[in-house]
Amino acid sequence: MKKSIGIDLGTTNSVVAVKKVSTEVLKNAEGEYITPSCVMVKKRLMRKPEFIVGRDALEWIRQEPENTITAVKRLIGRNFHEKEVQELISKQSHPYQLSTHSRGSANSLAIQIGGREFTPEEISAKILAKLKADAEAALGDEVDAAVITVPAYFNDKQKHGTRTAAALAGLKVRRLLPEPTAAAISFGVDKISGNDGRTVLVFDFGGGTLDLSILTISGGRIIEMGKGGDMWLGGEDIDQLLINYVLEETARDEGIADIRALIAQQKPARKNKFLAELKTAVERAKIALSDQEETCVEILGVLLDQDGDPLDVEVELPRGRFEGMMIPLLKSMLGLVRGVIADVHFTEDLIDNVLLVGGSSRIPCVIKAVKEEFGQEKVLLHERPMLAVAEGAAILSHRLADTVECPQCTRNTAQNATTCSHCGFDLERHTVEHGVVEIVHAAAHDYYIKLENDQRFLMVEKNTPLPCSSTEVFQLVDAEQELVHMKFYNVVNRKEQGIGDLWLGIDQDKEQEKVEKEEEGAARKPLLPSRIEITLDIDENNLVSVNAALLNHPEVALSRTLSRGKADEKLFLELEQALSDADKEQYSTYTVIDLQNRARSIIGSINGVVDPKNDRVDEKRYEQARKQIHKAIKIAANEEAPLTQLYYAESMLDDYAVLIEPRVQDQLRDKIERLRQVDENGSYEETMRASAALSAALDDKRLAQVNTLMQIENASEICFKTDPGKAKNFCGSFPRFWRPLKNRMALWRRSCMPFCRRWMKFWKIMP
Ligand code: AMP
Repeated sequence: MKKSIGIDLGTTNSVVAVKKVSTEVLKNAEGEYITPSCVMVKKRLMRKPEFIVGRDALEWIRQEPENTITAVKRLIGRNFHEKEVQELISKQSHPYQLSTHSRGSANSLAIQIGGREFTPEEISAKILAKLKADAEAALGDEVDAAVITVPAYFNDKQKHGTRTAAALAGLKVRRLLPEPTAAAISFGVDKISGNDGRTVLVFDFGGGTLDLSILTISGGRIIEMGKGGDMWLGGEDIDQLLINYVLEETARDEGIADIRALIAQQKPARKNKFLAELKTAVERAKIALSDQEETCVEILGVLLDQDGDPLDVEVELPRGRFEGMMIPLLKSMLGLVRGVIADVHFTEDLIDNVLLVGGSSRIPCVIKAVKEEFGQEKVLLHERPMLAVAEGAAILSHRLADTVECPQCTRNTAQNATTCSHCGFDLERHTVEHGVVEIVHAAAHDYYIKLENDQRFLMVEKNTPLPCSSTEVFQLVDAEQELVHMKFYNVVNRKEQGIGDLWLGIDQDKEQEKVEKEEEGAARKPLLPSRIEITLDIDENNLVSVNAALLNHPEVALSRTLSRGKADEKLFLELEQALSDADKEQYSTYTVIDLQNRARSIIGSINGVVDPKNDRVDEKRYEQARKQIHKAIKIAANEEAPLTQLYYAESMLDDYAVLIEPRVQDQLRDKIERLRQVDENGSYEETMRASAALSAALDDKRLAQVNTLMQIENASEICFKTDPGKAKNFCGSFPRFWRPLKNRMALWRRSCMPFCRRWMKFWKIMP
């Protein structure tokens, strides 16, 4: 039977556990419980690279640090231009190279190794694939699904990235479980909750993050009340403090003015070896100081001084000195703890217990600071702080599976059975007393949509119970607006983090036709800007999906895929740039309309480029959309408008066929069909040739009269827009043509309006 496991996908280490009757942490292929979250990309001549994962990869840090990736979790769902990513680059804390992805937008991130680029999701997928394979070997069974833990503070883009990594590794995600909630489950809901229910603060201090969560626990029910923490505060940052200290001490002892410059001058292999050994040595020293009063950091015979002589690093590190360095970090840590409590309008005395988990929670001054804040007796230390999160994930994974092992007879029975079908054991009572009945998750952040003039509109408030759905109606800025670009944000520690964008193409002609049909015979009303209903859904994994519909006209389909920095976003931004350039260049209105019509159909093509489940790019669609954009740019730059011409010819046939000879009609249809075909699939040159052929057909002498009528119509429409009072008299002079003219309003109305250029903005209706 296929198994479902629990995975703690950590910044530094990952752990896998499974629950059958009891919970068991699984050993990896190397016989260890903990797998370093480290991936080495080994180049191979003329072949695809090989990926080494875990302890073996860690060994390569000294030899090929530029090809060995650690702490990839800090990069998942991140943008290259984010402040924190730029800081990582400037501090050189990762020897591998980071850049934007050549297939993505500025909102993407790539890890460059040996001339190849990898997304953080692809690297995380390698770690997950090893965890899955090792678990299968340990269990002797196939593993197809998992509960994967993520920091409570991950935003939607980071969670989406984790899900993508799982899909690439062939794992179905049963739930993305916040790490503190997993830790609480592993502590034993029965041990914490008692009869009356308790409020618990989980303090999860790991390698990369400080993750805080306030939970209420009662009778197997866990309710997430509030979340907080810092994605950039963890053991890695403490190691960085120690690295700075060791370098400063060495510089002082040896009389070196600029030790970082000296390190930079070393040959690359020596420099990389030194930096890798320094990182390992300080981490070892930090861990040692959790049990002893002092230690020493030593790196001998690696660094060379200005004269090329060996320069040994030997720095004494007493615990007191280390604790002095930790003071600012402890202060920000307590600030975050107080913040999360205040967020849910609690006070510290309402917290019944504080659960300490994560490797960095072993540091004595961290434990002391938390005990001083809450009182000694409230603070509980997990016996297996590094394994707790995986255990909690395994317990939930077991709970979400279709069948469970009966705790009494160990045979499989249905998950939803109240008693064991084999031995009659009371499963329901057992779950209430010892297991997890239900978890009520909460939104980790505030979710905003950005409006015209950069105003923010709150769609979902932080800590709202999940799943939740929020629907709001927005009004477009302009009645003529056909293209909309919406930006969605989380606000994390008062900073905006983009989680995805939505591009829509609205066919205003269809919309207008419908309005006109409904209002047949009634007095003509001015065209109002469309209203769009946006629904933001957040599921229990804290994953966002967005739906858009034209209010009152749900049959007018809108494309809707949230793009998150990948190849689709790159194309969307290219298209947006082309439109904004066309606007600045003051192209003729016909050119602009042509470009706008193209953009609408291109948006449809781009929306299918990236598979939302695993971020895979459909190469054929990507190429097609890219070609469409480049062709549109070229057509606009040459001030041409084949589509506008095509619509002109089509409406001529629709409205005036009675006045056109059948042979001329056939000729026109022929040329229209040809232009339509090559416009969709042909090159720029083919399109322009077909457009010239149609133009020649429209210039046929036999169409002179009809062309004149079309121009009168156009003039009437301009009259309608500029002076509606006079328009009545003007149109009254042409009663015979009034009806076809009215039908064609939708097509031509845009041709005379300069404000049709304001298409890329949107507006919120005030309630
Ligand atoms: P985790 O993310 O929970 O696996 O924690 C990993 C982090 O905990 C790394 O930064 C380790 O250096 C750190 N760590 C592990 N054990 C200890 C310890 N006994 N004392 C201090 N830090 C530790």
